[in-house]
Amino acid sequence: MELARVVDLVARVRATSRKTDKVALIADVLGQTRGCETELVALYLTGRLPQGRVGIGWRTIQAAMPEGPAVGETVPLAEVDRVLEAVARERGAGSTERRRAALRGLLERVDEGGRRFLAQLLLGEVRQGALDGLVRDAVARAAGLPAARVRQAGMFAEDLGQLARAALGHGEEGLARFSLRLLSPVAPMLASPADDVEAALERLGEAAFEYKVDGARIQVHRAGDEVRVFTRQLQDVTDRVPEVVEWARGLPAREVVLEGEALCLREDGRPHPFQTTMRRFGRSKDVAAARRALPLAGFFFDCLFLEGDGPLVALPYAERAERLAALVPGDRRLPRLVSADGAEAAGFLARALEAGHEGLMAKSLQAPYVAGQRGFHWLKLKPARTLDLIVLAAEWGSGRRRGWLSNLHLGARDAESGQPVMLGKTFKGLTDAMLRWQTERLLALETGRDQWTVHVRPELVVEVAFSDVQESPRYPAGLALRFARVKRHRPDKPAAEADTVQTVRALFEAQRA
Ligand code: AMP
Repeated sequence: MELARVVDLVARVRATSRKTDKVALIADVLGQTRGCETELVALYLTGRLPQGRVGIGWRTIQAAMPEGPAVGETVPLAEVDRVLEAVARERGAGSTERRRAALRGLLERVDEGGRRFLAQLLLGEVRQGALDGLVRDAVARAAGLPAARVRQAGMFAEDLGQLARAALGHGEEGLARFSLRLLSPVAPMLASPADDVEAALERLGEAAFEYKVDGARIQVHRAGDEVRVFTRQLQDVTDRVPEVVEWARGLPAREVVLEGEALCLREDGRPHPFQTTMRRFGRSKDVAAARRALPLAGFFFDCLFLEGDGPLVALPYAERAERLAALVPGDRRLPRLVSADGAEAAGFLARALEAGHEGLMAKSLQAPYVAGQRGFHWLKLKPARTLDLIVLAAEWGSGRRRGWLSNLHLGARDAESGQPVMLGKTFKGLTDAMLRWQTERLLALETGRDQWTVHVRPELVVEVAFSDVQESPRYPAGLALRFARVKRHRPDKPAAEADTVQTVRALFEAQRA
């Protein structure tokens, strides 16, 4: 296949708005490729090169760009790849000149559109996440495989090119080689927030509810006597957590991958705060002393690979959890409840909070393990705390919110002086109707203004949800709210009844306890 076909395809995909039509166009072209060509089309379409980065910048491209009209030859993709491979390999004295010459030789042979495409490709300007999804679905269509199957394999393929080549060349059999491998970490599956237990049940139906503990995510791989422990960022922390390694060596399965949370517990069994657990992960020296002072334990919730079965990622969660329960004793698994009953789940949530944990995770029993994605198969339930705070000022909105007072400066009441003390700002959670209402109300309370901000008499109270209180040098109380969001205006509540700085400080202390 020639480069011009790919350039033409890109233009047609850009000019099409419906996703299914885009996928059909790409599938049609992919279906006409074979072997190495399939790989190149999939990579070029998603803005990648098999060489990775060729190390060519804008200046070299400009210097190599021919002035005259294109010869307009048909240049096969394999030829483009051969030239770029040579360019990428150039080293040493005179290499800049040789790169430029090789690139010019290629650019001279392609037309205007091809030159632009190659320049963007070399500069990494084509790359967008959305393209990956389109090409993956097109690969499935061209290969006659279910899109979900190709997506699943894609989590473990080195790149989209190899995935496309295997799927089109060898179908299901070709995909089988892309799966979880022992001792290689996979990107962890992530959760989206849900408002409450009922919302989670509505989305998932009967679900697994598990304690959500505030520790550090760990992925533990064991292959015989070799054990590796990886963090959420896929960093290898094996040497920092010897107790987890020893524990994994004692498991009755020699080949296994488990996911869980590592947590430092206090003597009374309650969790230490997140920062304390993280101290263990930050420490690479004197690990033995750190271990004595702050012992860690892993609490597991998923099993991704098991001796005898191989990778389990494609299995429904209910089945992975069964494998986990057969392998890991109950005191090393996170507490779990399978239920479709809102009241039962709410009771479980209350128990998790009482025990000092963050909340619950609600998980679909049917879902496979979807590496690296924040989808709706896992929902996190962290009860947001709320405070009634006083609006001290508001900033004019921009973009869609132009003309409305949007970002609110929020304060709590100092119980001693009676004066409001600022704790942060937020524009989150405000609907159009709320923006309209508060603009009118706040302008009526105006005491002065500058270019961005209208200052007001501290009279309007708003109910604000937030996740934690954190230390902040920026605000006068030394405290600020994290992830603050306006829930509603409280015109019914006088400022004298708003929450106090002392309450906020007590929340902060409780968090640290
Ligand atoms: P967040 O960091 O708030 O997006 O929540 C996701 C994180 O919660 C995961 O990466 C885990 O580190 C942690 N977590 C705690 N308990 C669980 C659980 N039962 N299942 C999955 N993740 C959990």
